[in-house]
Amino acid sequence: MTTTKLLIKRSIKSFASLTKSKTVFPKTEPGSVNIIAYHRVVADIAKAEKDAIYGLVVSSATFRRHCELLRKSFDVVSLETARFFLDGERKVSRPLAVITFDDGYLDFYEEAFPILNEYGLPATVFLPTEFIGGDKFLAHDRIYWLVKLAIEKSVPVYKALIQAGLSKNIAAKLAVETDVLKLTDSLVYLPKDLRERVIFQIEVSLGDKFESYPPEYRLLSWETIREMSKKGISFGGHTANHVVLPLEAQASMETEIHESKKTLEAQLGKSVVSFAYPNGEYNLRAKQMLAEAGYKIAVTTETKINRTGSDLLLLGRISLCEESTRGFKGSYSHSVASLRLGI
Ligand SMILES: [Zn+2]
Repeated sequence: MTTTKLLIKRSIKSFASLTKSKTVFPKTEPGSVNIIAYHRVVADIAKAEKDAIYGLVVSSATFRRHCELLRKSFDVVSLETARFFLDGERKVSRPLAVITFDDGYLDFYEEAFPILNEYGLPATVFLPTEFIGGDKFLAHDRIYWLVKLAIEKSVPVYKALIQAGLSKNIAAKLAVETDVLKLTDSLVYLPKDLRERVIFQIEVSLGDKFESYPPEYRLLSWETIREMSKKGISFGGHTANHVVLPLEAQASMETEIHESKKTLEAQLGKSVVSFAYPNGEYNLRAKQMLAEAGYKIAVTTETKINRTGSDLLLLGRISLCEESTRGFKGSYSHSVASLRLGI
């Protein structure tokens, strides 16, 4: 798919729409497997919702309430265990829930892991291997920060986008966008190399108006991952560079899928069978490559509840953040949370 077509398609599934209330919520039934998707769990939600894509953050207090609700209403199992129910090997008596986290942020260890431990709940974390154990931040976080700075400080981005290699037509359309999330979303959905050039050029354009990326964007270290791997947390693939798979050339897709799996298995000392498509984007080729690489189970960001017979390499998830379980008063709502979880 061309970049232009993809940019247009993006309006359907953007960060902005990820958490917006939908009128129809899937309902949990006996035999259903609800897979929940989180990104970051934070101590200071007001700061995080300002400094990061708000759809990626939930407060520790709200996460704790979600855990309580999940434990009460479901059998919470690991993704690997859920696989045996989804392929019909084992029968379920109660609805199952699986807790997943994308991207491997450091705050998973600091905020989420102690709560999961306290409740005795398993979880799976999907890791973009190139960013683990280093000091690099993920492209979506860097782009959000740069776009926010550019819009707040009235720094035009047209020239940066042209110099990065975008067409005049697309650059002109994007340069007039004043919504931080919408522009972030469009710039994240680019092939990896082009996306890196966009980041570099916007940093250059900001000049002395550039402000350092928030340290809260940090990801986990391998040491910490190995520690958690012995204590109920499993880890899955998420490519090496957090690429939008359908936008990458065949060779890049292969490296991203195969090499990252090898890295994960070498670092963990165990086989890795689960995968999350970065940004939920997949195509038939990506799915086939996962199967060839030995992945047994893969999750998207499509809002659906899974059941026996669901395609194990295209499972749906329910994405949750702070905003998704707020009531009309602006604070956590038990009834909204129950609705979101299909209870
Ligand atoms: Zn991700």
